[in-house]
Amino acid sequence: MAVKIIEGKNYHCGTKMLTVKISADMSHTGKERLEQKPVDACIADIVNALNLAGIFTDGCCCGHGVGTGSIVLTDGRVIEVHFPDDWEAHKGNA
Ligand SMILES: [Zn+2]
Ligand SMILES: [Zn+2]
Repeated sequence: MAVKIIEGKNYHCGTKMLTVKISADMSHTGKERLEQKPVDACIADIVNALNLAGIFTDGCCCGHGVGTGSIVLTDGRVIEVHFPDDWEAHKGNA
């Protein structure tokens, strides 16, 4: 997609608190646990679905309209998230 820089407003994003699983090897307690994490709202549904499926995420960012979003998995893989150019309209209709 073409990278669009949208000035003067916060493009399509707030954050959502999500309960994510921290796998045992990633957890400082050495045990699997749940943690509340702020996630960019427009990709929170994807991150939530991954976590529910047992695919743990390390970090993520939607790109905030200026870049490609990414969801980093704990095993090192990275999922890229591309938004349609008319994402604002999609969001409005959601
Ligand atoms: Zn966003
Ligand atoms: Zn972000």
